[in-house]
Amino acid sequence: MISFEDFKANTDDVLARIAQACLVAGRSPDEVQLLAVTKTHPAEAAEYVARYGLKAVGENRVQEAIDKKALSPTSLRWELIGHLQSNKAKLAAEHFDRIQSIDSAKLLTFLDRAASERGRSLTVLLQINAGRDPAKFGAEIEDTPRLLEAALACKSLRVEGLMTIAPLSDDPAVAQRTFATLRELRDSYAAQFGVPLRELSMGMTGDLAAAIAAGSTQVRVGTALFGQRSLVGP
Ligand SMILES: *Cc1c(COP(=O)(O)O)cnc(C)c1O
Repeated sequence: MISFEDFKANTDDVLARIAQACLVAGRSPDEVQLLAVTKTHPAEAAEYVARYGLKAVGENRVQEAIDKKALSPTSLRWELIGHLQSNKAKLAAEHFDRIQSIDSAKLLTFLDRAASERGRSLTVLLQINAGRDPAKFGAEIEDTPRLLEAALACKSLRVEGLMTIAPLSDDPAVAQRTFATLRELRDSYAAQFGVPLRELSMGMTGDLAAAIAAGSTQVRVGTALFGQRSLVGP
């Protein structure tokens, strides 16, 4: 685990990259939130995030997040950015402030029921496989209108927008196309369904400027803040 001083320097740097990308895109830096991705790092990583003054962390596994959350400042918001299985929906609905990885009607049903049983309203994003990457989770583009319709009918869920992960590629045009596609889908569904779908969660360490150019409102960054994750996992 890196020192807080190194983390602070990295975060200053990432925020400067975000500000620069906003400047180029003619956008205000206030429109783009930095979600610090703490997966595979110890609970200390979440403590760094809070100490720096960022508001939220992203995790991709339910149990890992729950374990860290118990040790972390209560002011932080926890967002699930990894694939969620229906059998973990109850736990996820209890412990996360937002779930970004909604990609099936079945998952919606489980989460809506879990949130309703807890008497809470849970905010969610729909994860779309906008890059048509066979290696990625996320709803297929063709299935998204039906999924959105189902999500909007869930009484205990609030759909705030869309999320995507660009396919891994050496060609920057692949990520650019993916982000442009998500933006176009959002604009068209927002008009079609009469809902704002304000949040566009897209962009990571390697492609955040391209995502911001395409309208990202939240970049999810791990490596540029905490360094490389070890391949063996947590
Ligand atoms: C790990 C992860 C990130 C962060 O990726 P970096 O390249 O380390 O910035 C962002 N989004 C999702 C869904 C992830 O799983």
